[in-house]
Amino acid sequence: MKKEAPIDNTSLQYLQTRLRGNMLLPGDSGFDAARSIWNSMILREPALIVRCKTTHDVINAVNFAQDQNLVVSVKGGGHNIAGNAVCNGGLMIDLSEMQAVEVDPEKKTVRVEGGCLLGMVDEATQQHGLAVPAGVVSTTGVAGLTLGGGFGWISRKYGLSIDNLLEAEVVTADGNCITASKKENPNLFWGLRGGGGNFGIVTRFTFRLQPVGQVYSGLIVHPFSAARELLQFHRDFIAQAPDELTLWVIIRHAPPLPFLPEAVHGQLVVVVAFCYVGDEAAGAQVMAPYRAWGSPLGEHVGMNPFADWQKSFDGLSTSGARNYWKSHYLHEISDAFIDTVIPYAADFPSPDCEVLIPQLGGAISRVPEDETAFTNRQAPTLINLHTRWEKAADDEKNIRWAREFFEALKPFSTGGVYVNFIGEEDETRVHDAYSAATWKKLVSLKVKYDPQNFFHMNQNIRPSQYH
Ligand SMILES: Cc1cc2nc3c(=O)[nH]c(=O)nc-3n(C[C@H](O)[C@H](O)[C@H](O)COP(=O)(O)OP(=O)(O)OC[C@H]3O[C@@H](n4cnc5c(N)ncnc54)[C@H](O)[C@@H]3O)c2cc1C
Repeated sequence: MKKEAPIDNTSLQYLQTRLRGNMLLPGDSGFDAARSIWNSMILREPALIVRCKTTHDVINAVNFAQDQNLVVSVKGGGHNIAGNAVCNGGLMIDLSEMQAVEVDPEKKTVRVEGGCLLGMVDEATQQHGLAVPAGVVSTTGVAGLTLGGGFGWISRKYGLSIDNLLEAEVVTADGNCITASKKENPNLFWGLRGGGGNFGIVTRFTFRLQPVGQVYSGLIVHPFSAARELLQFHRDFIAQAPDELTLWVIIRHAPPLPFLPEAVHGQLVVVVAFCYVGDEAAGAQVMAPYRAWGSPLGEHVGMNPFADWQKSFDGLSTSGARNYWKSHYLHEISDAFIDTVIPYAADFPSPDCEVLIPQLGGAISRVPEDETAFTNRQAPTLINLHTRWEKAADDEKNIRWAREFFEALKPFSTGGVYVNFIGEEDETRVHDAYSAATWKKLVSLKVKYDPQNFFHMNQNIRPSQYH
């Protein structure tokens, strides 16, 4: 049973003497900002926040929580939909002051501290024409994203974030700091690549870097009335797309983009977002049939610095809104699937809701399933039903729409789910994120590294699930 009573002052003072970073208690200036996360649906109040500056701070925080029998949560970028970065009444270990990024352009590697956001890594690595494959919103945390897998615009060419991970520095539940890599603690290294924050706190990641310069990229916006034919064309197009190209279909109300006529702003549209990693002429040639298809309402296409392109969805994904989403991996984009999507998308419960269908495959699918703890590598795509709104009074209608839509899509699902897209109410789906063999191995790793389930504010793999 974890402690509910307040932590005594003497213990707190002792902890502060051992920290380079600072501590925040409820009522302290900065406490509310530190406990706030991307999804404002989740409002929890820790008894104590430790803002770590060093790996030693993390070790001290872990030891303190163990001594005091406190629930622990770990905040990387705070972007997770389930809000596991924050706990109620326990100790939140906040890594947001651990954001150093060190690029080694000779070795083509980058060392990234556990509190970094994706944009920080892009800014540093792009100075050398290099990049780590990661997600499509630059304010997402490297840690949570990587520990669940991490896919984005260049993953079809260069793999998931975990496929580029070389080494991790990990603080375990017993307060030790160990290295995980293919050579050191290889089983732990396997588990960190897809198994989430179950085995310890990663204070530093070392990634292999890939060559990425400017990217041929952009948005093509079609009217919603073309959705059916467009999705059919898209399905056939992506079936033969090279690994350099990644396309996402997004159905939503049109944001006020300057290249769209004003009359289109706020209208229901289908946005095709794409990124080609390679030279402009090759990208333009590959995308020519797509650009020639139908009668787009507008497009904005050209060469963009990769770090800028990585920020192109930031404006639609700011923190502070209420969010709820549900997600399926898909076998294919069948006609029956399209016919199920269209009526739900035509009936979005709030103006900022969206349906996202990212293209996967390519290099992601060529890594053997048992190489890492990430499952579902063969799925060519997934669908994320993202509802987003402002007022608590609208919770019910948004959540109901997503749940009903999700149920309707079940016949098209592989049954799997991306562990980083599992919401708060869906924790029973953690099992669905893994194959049976991977699950068994993950549970036995949990038994070895965290038998007391000290790290359970995550997509939790319980040691008791061992059989
Ligand atoms: C707007 C938006 C866009 C997204 N786009 C993509 C995308 O393109 N591709 C993709 O793959 N995913 C995407 N995601 C999902 C994203 O990968 C997850 O939300 C991920 O968990 C975010 O990591 P974080 O560090 O920001 O989150 P946090 O909420 O801080 O942490 C998430 C989980 O990881 C644990 N954790 C955090 N840091 C550490 C650490 N250092 N050591 C151990 N455990 C830790 C936390 O305790 C928590 O359980 C997106 C999410 C959002 C909200």
